[in-house]
Amino acid sequence: MWKAFYYLPSAYKNQFLSPKSLKTLQEKRLRYMVNHAYRNTSLYRSKFEAAGITPSDIATLEDITKIPLVTKEEIKAVFPDGIIAPGFSESNCKVETTSGTSGSILKILFNDEAWNRLKAIALRNYFAHGIRPWHKFCIVCSSPGEYESVSSSPFSRTVGVLEKNSEPLAEDIRRVNPYVLGGHPSTFFGVCRAIERNDITGITPRIVLIGGEVAYPGWRDYIEKILKTHTINKYGAAEMNSVAWECDHGSMHIDADSVIVEFVKEGEQVAPGERGEIVVTNLWNVAMPFIRYRLGDLAAPSDEPCCCGRGLPVIKELEGRLDDVVVLPSGGLIPCTRMCPLLHNTPGIAEFGIIQDNPSHVVIRIVPRDEFTEDVENTLHDKMQNVLGSSVTIDIKRVDHINRDKKIKFKRIQRTFEAHVP
Ligand SMILES: [Zn+2]
Repeated sequence: MWKAFYYLPSAYKNQFLSPKSLKTLQEKRLRYMVNHAYRNTSLYRSKFEAAGITPSDIATLEDITKIPLVTKEEIKAVFPDGIIAPGFSESNCKVETTSGTSGSILKILFNDEAWNRLKAIALRNYFAHGIRPWHKFCIVCSSPGEYESVSSSPFSRTVGVLEKNSEPLAEDIRRVNPYVLGGHPSTFFGVCRAIERNDITGITPRIVLIGGEVAYPGWRDYIEKILKTHTINKYGAAEMNSVAWECDHGSMHIDADSVIVEFVKEGEQVAPGERGEIVVTNLWNVAMPFIRYRLGDLAAPSDEPCCCGRGLPVIKELEGRLDDVVVLPSGGLIPCTRMCPLLHNTPGIAEFGIIQDNPSHVVIRIVPRDEFTEDVENTLHDKMQNVLGSSVTIDIKRVDHINRDKKIKFKRIQRTFEAHVP
């Protein structure tokens, strides 16, 4: 971790480069990574050959669209021999694992230099918001693995607490009472509910860092109201480390000096303001190259510069995971950002999960509290019907608990049938 500080000055400087200079930097690294991946991994060599291209065809950022997209499943199928460059292995790399929202977990190997550069780039977000190594930092970890890595942080003032039910979690956070609190927005939403319900005092963070999932409209306002502080959004992925983060003017800046982010729809890059799937290319990880890798999140690019003065491009809207959607019989998609706020704003719901077992049937499982009366249930049913439309039958089921696999990020919508999600 300390080695990351070596790269911090250049990470700091890069965020203020002009868009033109950032493009030059990206193109130089893209050419290097494409060459390297073609020569050293059978996966990229075969993909390039199938597309009839060689590294010499990729000179500018515009040329990147000639390279075929790659999925997590393709990488998993050839891991490790087809994707790890010669000379690298788990013994000389930093190993991360994806959170496995879809139950599919992938190991990611980072060579030392890449790891430290990416760490430095992730750290500049903290520095931009006035967070310093001596501030007490509490991270709510969703897995024992994350807890272990947080606990071994060289920053002695960083404390990990394991995700659990909201009441005991609020108690754990109260005991630490950190300067900075970091974790999933849904976690803090639950914690704030617990604080409100039980009049818990003594949790007074100055900054709440949220990430790992989309914060639904209203959540941030609520968290900020209860904790009397502001929230900062960040967007990352285990395969990349940090991808984007929010500056104090509220823009989500892409870490363009470590990752090329494209927004793709039906094979084409979308125009600014239009929604596309996020496709990423890591510019530093030579141990395990990711070139045009489908991250599976939906977002829209922006062409408006931010008034904070950073040249890093901006993501306009981040809509969350492509697979966290209900697929209508018509093929239309309803993202959980449209449904989950309704459930969160309904009184008397301790926990919920949405299961779609066929295109025209959705089951909403609810762990009820006393306030969840029949009237409340009927109102919720009507509101959900409004969102999903008349082609879908909705059943609300009251259950004792929702099964959560503690090792993986919780998926709110589970589909039990194969559906083509474009
Ligand atoms: Zn900005």
